[in-house]
Amino acid sequence: MLGLVKGLGVTLKNMTKPKVTYRYPDEPLLMPNRFRGIQHFDPEKCIVCNQCARICPTDCITLSGKKQPEKKGKVIDTYTINFETCILCDLCTEVCPTGAITMTNNYELAVYSRDELFKDLEWLNQNNTHIREEQSGNVAKRHGGKQ
Ligand code: SF4
Ligand code: SF4
Repeated sequence: MLGLVKGLGVTLKNMTKPKVTYRYPDEPLLMPNRFRGIQHFDPEKCIVCNQCARICPTDCITLSGKKQPEKKGKVIDTYTINFETCILCDLCTEVCPTGAITMTNNYELAVYSRDELFKDLEWLNQNNTHIREEQSGNVAKRHGGKQ
């Protein structure tokens, strides 16, 4: 009987404590600002310099550009990241001179087929929520406040 009362006491005491669990996936988990999540890609900012693809340690970025009529340089045509092998190391976003590729705080990548882990330009562009503020700050600093 004493054990039962003791047990109930512990239960009642813990019922009044703040919750340490989350209702995930019903309520999304918000990650801290320096979290390295799935990248956002902005084709308007990309100058097709290839630096992100060159530095990628797992060779998971594939991109191509096309010539613009009557303009210098290229515009981005295709841009794909293979999330089978991307280790979200942040190097591509660190080297990007224009901030075209930035990390977000998004992390959900579960899919039923491995093919779906190849995310193309449109998908990466639409991944535009929770863009990491710290990254934007670094790019702004690198360009004297301009992005
Ligand atoms: S986060 Fe790292 S592994 Fe992923 S695409 Fe960028 S450089 Fe490659
Ligand atoms: S480093 Fe930036 S600007 Fe250069 S190709 Fe990659 S995303 Fe485009």
